[in-house]
Amino acid sequence: MSTSSRLSRRAWLKAVIMTASGAAALPLLGRAAKAAPVKVSKAIAHYQDHPNGRKMCGMCRYFIPTGGTAGHGMMGGAMGPGMMQEGHCQVVLGRVSPRGYCVLFQHT
Ligand code: SF4
Repeated sequence: MSTSSRLSRRAWLKAVIMTASGAAALPLLGRAAKAAPVKVSKAIAHYQDHPNGRKMCGMCRYFIPTGGTAGHGMMGGAMGPGMMQEGHCQVVLGRVSPRGYCVLFQHT
């Protein structure tokens, strides 16, 4: 076997291994994409920095208070430090006020 044919066989084997591992990774990538939260802009969600009646981010299941977890807003019985500070939202991009509101509001 010549040097060039050994090299090309090695290159072919490498390509097969990379393709096989790439194909094996596809289902994992699909699952990761499904698990990753999709967030929308404040404009799309019609976010406002004031409540809509009694509906506000701090009472929404998607609100993540500073240093806290989602679904534990003002109504979750976990009124603690950070509850009156800006936090994040699981479905809207950027920081949100606990007194803000958007059309994606879901009560806790
Ligand atoms: S979904 Fe809307 S109302 Fe709920 S926390 Fe996010 S921005 Fe606030």
